[in-house]
Amino acid sequence: MDILRQALCAMGRHSGEWSHPGSRCETIRTCSACGRTEERSRHDWGDWGYAGGCEQVRRCLRCGAPDSWPDHDWGPWLYANTEFNSPQVRTCRRCHTSERTSPTYR
Ligand SMILES: [Zn+2]
Ligand SMILES: [Zn+2]
Ligand SMILES: [Zn+2]
Repeated sequence: MDILRQALCAMGRHSGEWSHPGSRCETIRTCSACGRTEERSRHDWGDWGYAGGCEQVRRCLRCGAPDSWPDHDWGPWLYANTEFNSPQVRTCRRCHTSERTSPTYR
């Protein structure tokens, strides 16, 4: 029994070769020590582009899988009210989404 190998598996550090089962971007491998199958994806991402609003979108050139990332044009942080523990709020100048901190205790 390989104690070191088992310890690595317990930490999620499995061994074995990654293989491409198809033409898509997912690769899988079966651990040679514990037999567990892992999956991960390696997409061939295209350039980021705006989808409208503040959402940036890119697509995998190979399988077309979408990925998005918000890119807001945040204004300055402002206090939401005059309470002594008021949270701070900022608003996107483009899509008016707002985000606030948890109350601050001064
Ligand atoms: Zn393993
Ligand atoms: Zn892909
Ligand atoms: Zn926005």
